Amino acid sequence: MTITTHATIIDGKAIAANLRKKIAGQVAALKEMFKLTPGLAVIIVGEDPASQVYVKNKGLAVTEAGMQSFQYTLPATTTQQELIAKIELLNSDPKVHGILVQLPLPKHIDEKVVINTVSPAKDVDGFHIENVGKLVTGQKDALVSCTPVGCIMLIKEVLGDISGKNAVVVGRSNIVGKPVAHLLLQENATVTIAHSRTTNLHEICQQADILVAAVGIPQLVKASWVKPGAVVIDVGINRVTLSDGATKLVGDVAFDEVFEVAGAITPVPGGVGPMTIACLLTNTLKAACTQHGIKVPAIS
Ligand code: NDP
Repeated sequence: MTITTHATIIDGKAIAANLRKKIAGQVAALKEMFKLTPGLAVIIVGEDPASQVYVKNKGLAVTEAGMQSFQYTLPATTTQQELIAKIELLNSDPKVHGILVQLPLPKHIDEKVVINTVSPAKDVDGFHIENVGKLVTGQKDALVSCTPVGCIMLIKEVLGDISGKNAVVVGRSNIVGKPVAHLLLQENATVTIAHSRTTNLHEICQQADILVAAVGIPQLVKASWVKPGAVVIDVGINRVTLSDGATKLVGDVAFDEVFEVAGAITPVPGGVGPMTIACLLTNTLKAACTQHGIKVPAIS
């Protein structure tokens, strides 16, 4: 008899939907008990089509959770000063508890300056240097960037306790790789961060009980790189063109072959992506509660 095994598919869409339902419940309770409606302001500069889709989806999710959504679309010619002035207005607007500036910004605007103009208390993207510092030093009141938090939730959904596991994060961006690595460290995993200069990447990946791929290279991670039974989290979103000219989204992991080896794996789409938006809602709720001195409800 041949026994074939394959990975459990981690249903990020369903897990995120469940999380969003819980957040909506907490928002309703906040309204009822404290007359407080969390509000998220999203600023988009220019007309990048992908960014417009992301912003639209974020707005819908915010409204669906019972929060207030404020969207500002500024022309691509907006100056850095004008953008900063808009953020400063929102920093002092009591209806706005979270501010998100959709990246990337046009080339003439310095992203670092803009990110650090957002009040750290309203920085629901978790990109402000103060929140990054809090994450690195393990302070619980940090607003942590959404995709990394979503990755950890998915890992815990499968493994429960991460303590003592070997985790390998491929990618070291400030947005995904580094914060994921710090969160894994907080969970007491033994963490290796790999990047474009890493030698013998596949051998390093083979050691991973938990493998997080956040690279931006379609299907880079092959089955032979993956330890049998490992939990594989694919953050990548890459649009590729097929032989018939159609396009499709794929991750940084060669899903079909890794599926045969891994213990659990996230699909693309429908894995990490939906968690990002759900965690944005969690951060907005957390920011609103903190700004009003209300105990932040435990949601997971
Ligand atoms: P970046 O381009 O900022 O970072 C990519 C990282 O991958 C860098 O650290 C780079 O190394 C590393 N890298 C590049 N080539 C290799 C290689 N051959 N071997 C090993 N490492 C390599 O990307 P992001 O972190 O912003 O995003 C990564 C992916 O995740 C993208 O596909 C993006 O679309 C997706 N994404 C998905 C989100 C979601 O919600 N699901 C949210 C955010 C991103 P080095 O530092 O040395 O250059």
